[in-house]
Amino acid sequence: MGVPLLNLKAQYGRIQNRIDEVLREVLQSGHFILGPNVAALEEELRAFLGVARAVTVASGTDALHLSLRALGLGEGDGVLVPAFTFVATAAAVSYVGARPVFVDIEPDTFCMDSKRVAEYLTDTAPAPQPKERIRAMIPVHLYGQPADMEPLLGLARSHGLAVVEDAAQAVGATYHGRYAGGLGDAGCFSFYPTKNLGAMGDGGLATTQDPALGDRLARLRVYGGRQRYLHDELGFNSRLDEIQAAVLRVKLACLGEWTARRRAIAARYRAGLGGLGLTLPLERPGATHVYHQFAIRVADRDAVRRRTAERGVQTAVYYPVPLHLQPLYRELGYRPGDFPEAERAAREVLCLPMYPELTDAQVDEVVEAVKRSL
Ligand SMILES: *Cc1c(COP(=O)(O)O)cnc(C)c1O
Repeated sequence: MGVPLLNLKAQYGRIQNRIDEVLREVLQSGHFILGPNVAALEEELRAFLGVARAVTVASGTDALHLSLRALGLGEGDGVLVPAFTFVATAAAVSYVGARPVFVDIEPDTFCMDSKRVAEYLTDTAPAPQPKERIRAMIPVHLYGQPADMEPLLGLARSHGLAVVEDAAQAVGATYHGRYAGGLGDAGCFSFYPTKNLGAMGDGGLATTQDPALGDRLARLRVYGGRQRYLHDELGFNSRLDEIQAAVLRVKLACLGEWTARRRAIAARYRAGLGGLGLTLPLERPGATHVYHQFAIRVADRDAVRRRTAERGVQTAVYYPVPLHLQPLYRELGYRPGDFPEAERAAREVLCLPMYPELTDAQVDEVVEAVKRSL
């Protein structure tokens, strides 16, 4: 009894034969970096996501960093970032010398609120970053739910902003029939092992509909050269290796089935947890949520979490401190109360176990534990 937050060993157990086989092939090939598996994976992901270019990199964080760099963001620029997300979204902005400008979230989806973006861009009150230096936004498809891209893209167009999607948690999610990560100027994915499409180590992907931007991304990940030993600009070492690419190709073939199972688990949670006064995750009309997390809101969150743990059910809090209140960003001068919805989400959110290998009996056990913990 008891339900762990995650069970990557169970996932491996189900695909072990195939994984072991491709790993042996890579080990015997002697080709470990940017080889045939990386090329094949990039083509498979490009076709799957419906984008012009798909460039694998060493992590989701690097995908964000290199995308911002490829778009020419740098010193003195401001980038709109939701106040409630993983730190990497904002850290990537800091890496290029730009400044994260935080925006509050929608209370029902936890994604960056386009109304708050509109307010910020049109408000004439003095702002920490001159409005004309706001040059990009990074909507985050948090927990696997696409941000409301239509109004965000409209605002970006009318204010001349680049749009970098943080799709680290949302591979396979759709928005009005198109895949998240293929809607803006660049899309960024993470293959961190716990993500919906996870490697057995670190990995990431940057996508774009612009071939020239794709070429620049491909150069930035290998020292900024068009040709070996000739360097046009300062580049990085951000390559994916063949072992990760081979693993990801096996898992990409399972992703559709895994996403369907995540959605079935979400439906079972919804049926079991309805009518208890909890706030269950909303699915944005016109979008498909891929449930990287099943995030509920509970007023007395920490006590509920303690009691479910006593019943053997692990839960998690993503994320307990919004970015504008992180010590890292103290110098930006934000204060408690600046982004009330981000702060309330940080207090109330509770993520339940969510992975395709969960059995119906385990889901029911989680439901029972939550009910008895309220
Ligand atoms: C995981 C994650 C990242 C970073 O990805 P890494 O592969 O761990 O570098 C960025 N943004 C969000 C929202 C994430 O969940």
